[in-house]
Amino acid sequence: MKKILLCKETDERETRTALIPDDVKRLTAMGFEITAVKGTGAKSGFSDEDYEKAGAKLASSNEEGLKGKDIVLRILKPESVKGIEKGALHLSYLDPFNEKKLLGEMAKAGIQAVSLEMIPRTTLAQKMDVQSSQTSLAGYTAVVNAAARLPKILPMMVTPSGTINPARVFVIGVGVAGLQAIATAKRLGARVDAFDTRPVVEEQVKSLGASFVKIDLGEMGQTDQGYAKELTPEQVKKQQEAQAKVCERSDIVITTAKVFGRKAPRLIGKDVLDRMKPGAVVVDMAVSTGGNVEGSKLYEEVVRDNGVIIMSGDMLERQVPYDASKMLSGNFTAFLTHFYDKEKKELAVNLDDEIMKGCLLTKDGEIIHERFK
Ligand code: NAD
Repeated sequence: MKKILLCKETDERETRTALIPDDVKRLTAMGFEITAVKGTGAKSGFSDEDYEKAGAKLASSNEEGLKGKDIVLRILKPESVKGIEKGALHLSYLDPFNEKKLLGEMAKAGIQAVSLEMIPRTTLAQKMDVQSSQTSLAGYTAVVNAAARLPKILPMMVTPSGTINPARVFVIGVGVAGLQAIATAKRLGARVDAFDTRPVVEEQVKSLGASFVKIDLGEMGQTDQGYAKELTPEQVKKQQEAQAKVCERSDIVITTAKVFGRKAPRLIGKDVLDRMKPGAVVVDMAVSTGGNVEGSKLYEEVVRDNGVIIMSGDMLERQVPYDASKMLSGNFTAFLTHFYDKEKKELAVNLDDEIMKGCLLTKDGEIIHERFK
């Protein structure tokens, strides 16, 4: 397995590419043969010429390029399995909890489908972790977007004309996105509060110079993969009440609270939004999985009657496609390198490897992953 197709993303909103020319060069030197579909890097700052210079051949479309390729790289799940060779290793996000039909079709077509979201969160796999690489950029962008929309500045300013107090930012959910949001807001000079249901987070929040909002919700914790456990409805209610006061005094609220494979908890309701300051900005980064904020809309900005702005916080990494592609490309390259058999000079799908076992969902006509069988 060494013939790689780098697809062009077909969703108009997608701005990133799965592989940048520097990594094409690296992988080609190892022995991979890479074909890039024309225009793959057009929105992220990489021309077809850059890919050719790096050693890639060009194809004029995904359909044409798929012929004879045993490895397919793309970011978003395929629209259809048509044209993908039997036995090919297909790497992309797959949204496997919601895409049972697609998984079945991929299995039936004999494709070996890797789901990027299922790459295990181990130290060894960290460099392949697309969730982390993209989400941290999104956390940064959420704060930059909110700051640009806020009718205030973030830092304190003492001038002969008067003193401006620092803006207050509240980050709910301190995983990868939340940590980056805190760090960005601090760099811009804001006063930052944060909360997460995983108690281990308190130290991390403090080390970034932010305050941890203490809410006693009884038993909370995390899974062995570091994800939050789902709260009971009573716990969510208690959290909503305790957070309300912090929301009211905040200029920016960034919500990132997610529970892996489940609907996101609703944390800010209409009653709290009604009491927030006019012009305050809320960014809902869980908007695509149910939303932490009542009334948030995917890809849309909502301006409420009281002047509070709710921004969609989904896929914000697409606003920084140059860096987002660079990091994604690093993740794909790390994966391909890890499974490269130096003697055979090709990629080997090794199911004894914990990483492959964790993220390969279909093989030999079947769904093989325990969680999706
Ligand atoms: P995520 O996107 O699933 O969730 C975002 C955050 O929301 C999490 O911190 C979660 O605890 C929090 N949350 C859930 N319900 C909440 C609620 N009701 N109120 C407030 N917060 C709530 O999580 P993530 O960003 O992917 O990361 C989770 C953890 O995994 C982090 O500690 C991260 O550092 C760790 N991680 C480890 C690795 C690795 O070891 N390779 C890689 C990536 C992330």
